[in-house]
Amino acid sequence: MSAPQQPSQDAILAALAAQSTATRRAPPQTKGYAELAAGAPASLTTGLEAAGGADALVNSRKIYCPRGGCNAVVLQPGVGEWVEAEPGILPTHPGSPFPAESSTAAYWLVRGSPFAFDNVGFSRPDAAAALPDFAPGADAGKKVKWLICAECDLGPLGWSFEGGSDAWLAVDRLRYAAEPKA
Ligand SMILES: [Zn+2]
Repeated sequence: MSAPQQPSQDAILAALAAQSTATRRAPPQTKGYAELAAGAPASLTTGLEAAGGADALVNSRKIYCPRGGCNAVVLQPGVGEWVEAEPGILPTHPGSPFPAESSTAAYWLVRGSPFAFDNVGFSRPDAAAALPDFAPGADAGKKVKWLICAECDLGPLGWSFEGGSDAWLAVDRLRYAAEPKA
């Protein structure tokens, strides 16, 4: 009688590779802001009866890092509140991956940060940065902290202030789930 034949190391590695391919999750189906802008804010939001009786619009789609292939989830549906402000709040740099700021300058207000986010990093307080006076939350006495993707460091996606619990994300610097939350 011969001993049962052991699988070769190559066969084991091939099996493991096949398994990991099968269990790897398909990338999320997403759209850039430009594809949704024409219908905004309805294409991006759903109404929420906010405390105090005022209606707030909150994000109806899961929000992702804008970098192709990163796919980090930034915000779950229902967490960001749609607020409009003048454009030109976030700094732009030549060669940045972000689109030119759209005429609808809107932002997602996220209260209770950083714990409200899924994958967002905050920079150290930036003593050299100053936001325009019209920026939501702007307070000349507070240092700016930039929001970046926690997975790939792309940013700034938005801003917050040292010591503050609110944060703002630029709607046009993000990607969105192709379908709103059911
Ligand atoms: Zn990322």
